[in-house]
Amino acid sequence: MAATTHTVTNQPPPLVGYDVFTADPVLTEGIARYAADAHIDEVREELSRLGQAAGSAHAQRWAEQANTHPPVLRTHDRYGHRIDEVEFHPAWHRLLGHAVTAGLTDAWTRPDGHLRRTAGFLVWTQVEAGHGCPLSMTHAAVPALRAEPALAAEWEPRLTSRVYERELGPAAEKPGALAGMAMTEKQGGSDVRANTTRAEPLAADGEYALTGHKWFCSAPMSDVFLVLAQAPGGLTCFLLPRVLPDGTRNSFRIQRLKDKLGNRSNASAEVEFDGQTWARRVGEEGRGVATIIEMVAATRLDCVSASAAVMRQAVAQAVHHAAYREAFGGPLIDKPLMRNVLADLALESEAATTLALRLAAAYDGGTERDRNFLRLAVPAAKYWVTKRCTPVAAEALECLGGNGYVEESGMPRLLREAPLNSIWEGSGNVQALDVLRALQREPAALNAFLTEIGTARGADHRLDRAIKALLTELADLDGIEARARRLVERMALVLQGSLLVRYAPPEVADAFCASRLGGDAGAAFGTLPHTLDLASIVERARPVPAG
Ligand SMILES: Cc1cc2nc3c(=O)[nH]c(=O)nc-3n(C[C@H](O)[C@H](O)[C@H](O)COP(=O)(O)OP(=O)(O)OC[C@H]3O[C@@H](n4cnc5c(N)ncnc54)[C@H](O)[C@@H]3O)c2cc1C
Repeated sequence: MAATTHTVTNQPPPLVGYDVFTADPVLTEGIARYAADAHIDEVREELSRLGQAAGSAHAQRWAEQANTHPPVLRTHDRYGHRIDEVEFHPAWHRLLGHAVTAGLTDAWTRPDGHLRRTAGFLVWTQVEAGHGCPLSMTHAAVPALRAEPALAAEWEPRLTSRVYERELGPAAEKPGALAGMAMTEKQGGSDVRANTTRAEPLAADGEYALTGHKWFCSAPMSDVFLVLAQAPGGLTCFLLPRVLPDGTRNSFRIQRLKDKLGNRSNASAEVEFDGQTWARRVGEEGRGVATIIEMVAATRLDCVSASAAVMRQAVAQAVHHAAYREAFGGPLIDKPLMRNVLADLALESEAATTLALRLAAAYDGGTERDRNFLRLAVPAAKYWVTKRCTPVAAEALECLGGNGYVEESGMPRLLREAPLNSIWEGSGNVQALDVLRALQREPAALNAFLTEIGTARGADHRLDRAIKALLTELADLDGIEARARRLVERMALVLQGSLLVRYAPPEVADAFCASRLGGDAGAAFGTLPHTLDLASIVERARPVPAG
């Protein structure tokens, strides 16, 4: 028997066995704000079920396993035939299966579909972010496919299905399917016009053979991919299935899997198309970017909600830890300086979640004004919310002290995941330039944006001043490209401020306006004015089950 050397004390219990949805008032209030009365109880029940699953010990175990046993590429079978398959740990399939069954690939077939899905995505991906990638792409492929009604009729029911089918097989035999996207090539990702992959028309109308490569192709075991390639009429969007209608494998050569900073449960592949690769055209030749942009726009909203999920989980862990851990005679959560750090982090998390839900509600609204608002608000939110994710994850990790730096706390995984959403689906500069493009070409988008932020005018003097400064900035086109990040940051902050002033508790809105709009804070987290009601902000962020 080993001698007892000490008693373990002052180590917080794990944050487990809680409902990730009901424990977050920002989410529950957002649902109350936007969900239609007719089905609000159903939406709450659905999200609470998902929240309980996300906070369960078994889902946390799946997340850990899916990341400690990353996917493995199998290029050939034992007899030397090419198979180009990626093998995932069973935990990956459990995570993905649970999410598909919960409807996280479908925002298109139910009322308030985007709101339900965005909130669900925000809840469920808190347990594991990597499998959010195929969920996101499958959901987002739908609007792009609608450019080709026959293909949409064939694929939409499978992509929005609640059935998760992990094996590759002929589409006609699969009640559920996943979709991916392959645009990025070696010579250019942001600038897809530089794509060199060629598409030669075949005898049958709408069918092509592809030759070339893709430098990034995530979730390569998906059933179907939307791909860009140069057809005779210019850059065109194609649907490329992994299994052909006759049941044989399409030529889809997986060269290798990327060794990534984070997102390790998910596979991101380099793939080649060898001239035998069969694809069907989606939309007209030469309209590739216009077609696939529908998919990109939907995944950009997911980048916002996925970042909000990382931030919320990081803040929940930090507040939970500080509530139990004592130092220098009392719980960390009661120390004025720690309270300032936690409150500052909580503000960032609340602003991100509130904005994600507002965007989802606008997608559901579907009016001309909603579409114009989204045209500017989505790239601005994608730029800013994803940028805030990494510093939030890093500071939250520090709240756990040394424990936070250790893999089993889950915090390193959040930190490694954090930068990704600001890179894929258009990196920071690309989002900022997209905002400029919309400002220059689509005056209705700016009108809708200004109408939205204008509804909060008069509620807070710092917000009013920030709106005025933004209008001055918008009126000045001198050196606009070099000023784009600064401008877009301000747009996002004013939008977040206007939402918090309207919907958040006064102490949250006050602290946000003072620090983010009024300039009364330093560059690091934990520099809020000490006179604010920081304790209430922290208490609101504490992941304690309601009731
Ligand atoms: C884990 C992971 C998974 C991915 N999965 C997929 C996938 O499934 N399918 C897919 O198609 N792609 C995927 N990508 C690729 C991703 O979308 C691209 O990496 C991204 O769009 C940037 O393209 P790039 O890497 O070619 O960088 P570049 O386009 O070379 O950009 C490099 C930098 O320059 C900036 N920049 C570009 N143009 C300008 C400009 N005009 N002015 C100022 N700055 C500029 C960018 O913001 C960026 O910071 C994935 C990437 C990662 C990291």
